Amino acid sequence: MARSNPHFGKLPKNYIFSLMGEKQAQMRANRPNEEILNLGVGDISLPLAPSIALAIGDAALEMSRMVRGYGPEVGYLFLREALIGAEYGQLGFSPEEIFLSDGTNTDAATLHELFDEKTKILIPSPTYPVYFDSSVVVGKEVHLLPTRQEEGFIPRPPKEGYDLVFLCNPSNPTGIAMGFTHLEEWVTWAKKHKAILIVDNVYSCFISSPNVPRSIYEISGAREVAIEMRSFSKQAGFTGLRCAYMVVPKSLHLPELHSLCHRWKSFKTNGVSYPIQKGALASLSGEGKRETSLQIETYKRSAAILRSSLDEQGETYYGGTDSPYIWWKVPAGVSSQQWSDTLLNESLIVTIPGSGFGPSGEGFVRLSCFISNRIAEIASERIETACAL
Ligand code: PLP
Repeated sequence: MARSNPHFGKLPKNYIFSLMGEKQAQMRANRPNEEILNLGVGDISLPLAPSIALAIGDAALEMSRMVRGYGPEVGYLFLREALIGAEYGQLGFSPEEIFLSDGTNTDAATLHELFDEKTKILIPSPTYPVYFDSSVVVGKEVHLLPTRQEEGFIPRPPKEGYDLVFLCNPSNPTGIAMGFTHLEEWVTWAKKHKAILIVDNVYSCFISSPNVPRSIYEISGAREVAIEMRSFSKQAGFTGLRCAYMVVPKSLHLPELHSLCHRWKSFKTNGVSYPIQKGALASLSGEGKRETSLQIETYKRSAAILRSSLDEQGETYYGGTDSPYIWWKVPAGVSSQQWSDTLLNESLIVTIPGSGFGPSGEGFVRLSCFISNRIAEIASERIETACAL
């Protein structure tokens, strides 16, 4: 007799981004002539860089002249070599340690298959929901590690051991980035407990503070305990194109994970499309880097505009410096959902209520800074009015 997966019953009823998307659509339908500002879902708002678009188009044309079928399931060597050249070579990696995919979401949600079913998972909270949801539906034992405002929302290693830890750095949703010292603590802890750290690093391109490493592998010993996940989504505007990668070191204290990853990819996927990988390659070229870093600068400038407006209002917030997210404390006596609804209904600003990122997210709303500077200016004015109410 077929049965549905009972673990789905343990998930929150709604996925917060879908819920807020519906509310936004409803608001658009109700007030079609007004400008609704989307500071909700963390999606890009600038068009694809021209050099990337050209490379994708050229690759598609190339496929009209010669047959190019299935590619390697781990990704084309040209892109893995370029990633080594761009950064990972200096950190001591080789192309075989890079595994391409269609997104970090896919990687984060499916990598459970590489680990024993009794794996005990630790997830700092508030959290990007995918780590929690995907761990729960495969029936893993999941523990949340609350992070607190008094500690600046920095997750600190617990006394006890766990097998697998998801660390999002810079963090979605709090916008906080752990520096060298805190990451060193995690690496030391993971070594002691023979744990594996899954480090979601998709926002590394936003890091500008000198005390924050761009990769976990800048921490000594991390190659024994950490798998890093990166994506072209935010770094190069690929949310609608889909390309990401995991770095799985051969030197992990579980060395078989590297070969399991090869075996896993061989049945799990037939790879990422050739034109998209060519586009990703173009994003690593001189022109691609120039164009995409201008986009990141625009988003960072939008974050700065919002931060200075919150500063002027004397509001409490975190993030927005090494990350495209601002974690804004809601007024006393109001829930995060209520404040998010007020901002939508009164100020036409879409935000994500902190409660959607787990119980420790209550009391805050997340503002996405993937917006133009013009939208950031308008949002700042509306926020000032909302705060004055
Ligand atoms: N990881 C984090 C922390 C994210 O915030 C997001 C998207 O917002 C993703 C992963 C998704 O990445 P991708 O587009 O590569 O699936």
